[in-house]
Amino acid sequence: MSTETSHVLDVVDITKRFSATGDPAVDRVSFSVMPGEIFALLGPSGCGKTTTLRVIAGFEKPDDGEVRLADVLITGLSAERRKIGIVFQDYALFPHLTVLRNVMFGLKTVSRVDRARRARQVLEKVGLALYGDRMPHELSGGQQQRVALARALAAEPKIILLDEPFSNLDAELRRRTRREVRALLKSTGTSAVLVTHDQEEALAFSDRLAVMTNGRIEQIGEPEDVYVRPRTSFVAHFLGRTNVFVGRGRGFTAETSLGTVGIDREASGPVLLSLRPEHIDIAIGGSDSPAIVTSREFKGHDITYRVALGKAEYLVHTEYTMKFMPGDRVKLVPRESAVVLDQSVGHPFTKPLDE
Ligand code: ATP
Repeated sequence: MSTETSHVLDVVDITKRFSATGDPAVDRVSFSVMPGEIFALLGPSGCGKTTTLRVIAGFEKPDDGEVRLADVLITGLSAERRKIGIVFQDYALFPHLTVLRNVMFGLKTVSRVDRARRARQVLEKVGLALYGDRMPHELSGGQQQRVALARALAAEPKIILLDEPFSNLDAELRRRTRREVRALLKSTGTSAVLVTHDQEEALAFSDRLAVMTNGRIEQIGEPEDVYVRPRTSFVAHFLGRTNVFVGRGRGFTAETSLGTVGIDREASGPVLLSLRPEHIDIAIGGSDSPAIVTSREFKGHDITYRVALGKAEYLVHTEYTMKFMPGDRVKLVPRESAVVLDQSVGHPFTKPLDE
């Protein structure tokens, strides 16, 4: 039977330890990237995403597991011999070389004559055709990042690794550069793995993402799917604000402090549920309603209310008109089914179930 896949990258059960006694920095991580796909590794600082990227690049040797590039085992190959491009957070351009020469550096295997021509072509692709003679310090941060990308693309790698490539840019430039880089990767059909701790960046930039914590992948999926249907309370909290609360499942509904709510999969007995603040409606309650607004936060385009209900507190997002004041009695009505979470053991975001 053939084991060939159509993946451009396969990371298979990678484990990496930096000390013999402590927990591994990367713990049995597996994922695949399809041709032309942009895949993000998202997680908090120290979760192991950069180490995973460094294993793929060949800068770290894994203790266990394999890396395959277009079905070829590359775990034992040196970084230079892997057909992988890398773009770092600090661009890593040579300050004493012109933009053109920086890009030519990515073309060491091409004949001297062709190098400048190819480098110019790639600079044109990234919209910097007129900047070849400039020095890196004469460019903006976003332009420098595009030069770094041009240098990586010039060698026609099978995949590009992007390590927090936008984090040195301020908010507006960051969003623009992100859009431009995504469009460029898509127009050239280049596969990429992005490492980021920024959930909005991962959601906006990737075709699929993996959420990591403590060296492990908690969930892989398309951005919308992972946001709407997080599997664990860690994923639910890391991808934006949410309400995590307990209930008692009865088929496709659960009894909770919000009343009977629909749930996304069948369950019986104690369940841990997640419901996004924008998935709850807030309305005027009767004088005996137990739900009381405790605070409101006006953010221009929307409003966040905190509502106390029994021992629980719920966050609710509404549109921009301020309808309620702290102290108002209200009614909370879910607009979507709550998501049943898997119980990740001992995670700080996991509240104990009240049996
Ligand atoms: P950040 O976003 O802060 O870079 P990260 O998710 O990329 O975090 P890693 O840099 O992969 O995380 O680090 C994972 C764990 O491995 C951390 O606990 C880190 O301290 C440890 N670690 C990383 N590199 C080394 C090293 N060379 N020697 C010892 N420990 C390391």
